[in-house]
This record gives sequence, structure tokens and C-alpha cells, in this order.
Amino acid sequence: MVKSYLMKVKAKKEKGCKEIQSLIPGYLSGNLNLRQAKDFTRHLKKCKDCREEIEISYLLDKGIERVENGETVDLHADMEYMLSNTENAILQLKQFRTAVYLIESTAVFVLIACVLMLYLF
Ligand SMILES: [Zn+2]
Repeated sequence: MVKSYLMKVKAKKEKGCKEIQSLIPGYLSGNLNLRQAKDFTRHLKKCKDCREEIEISYLLDKGIERVENGETVDLHADMEYMLSNTENAILQLKQFRTAVYLIESTAVFVLIACVLMLYLF
């Protein structure tokens, strides 16, 4: 019983990792949508396996190019930098959406107020 439950949990975890790892190319080329980027960064924070996967992909994708250009590559620092950049971008997008929402609500409110004034006076 317990064993089959644990296997199920493990299978679920692996499925999650598979999905996340399928997003790596999109992440490296900056083509994830907000939802995907959120899931991606959240998962990578706690999953060592996927972190290793993305570090390898990153190394193959960008690292070699940078080494060829004579730059030094600090893989760990680069990853931290990229992930925190993504988190900031998500945060800014959220704030932007909140601002748009507030402006829209205010506009609707002003419109209703105008209509009421027209009727009342
Ligand atoms: Zn994972």
C-alpha cells in the first residue's frame, strides 16, 4: 500500500520534471508565457535534477559561445541571475496588470459617475 503510494508520488514528481524540462529550450530563448515561466522558476528553486538539466542546456546553448568569446562562465551565478531576472519580470508584469486593472476600474467608475450626473442634474 505505502509502497504503491510512494511510487505514485514519485511518478507524479517525475512527470512534473519532464514537463519542466520540456520548457527549458523555451526558457533559454525567452519564449515562455507567464504561467509557464512561473511554474518553471518555482520548480527550479526546489528541484535539483531540473536545475542540473537547465545548467547543462544553458552550457551547451550559451556557455560555449561565451567561452569562445574568451569570457569566463560562472554557471551557478548565471543561473541565479537568470532566475531572479525572470522572477522580477513576472513581478513587474503582475504589477503592470494590477495598474491596468486599477486604471480600468477607475475609468468605469468615472463613466458611471458622469452618466449619473447627466441624469440627476
Ligand atoms: Zn524537477
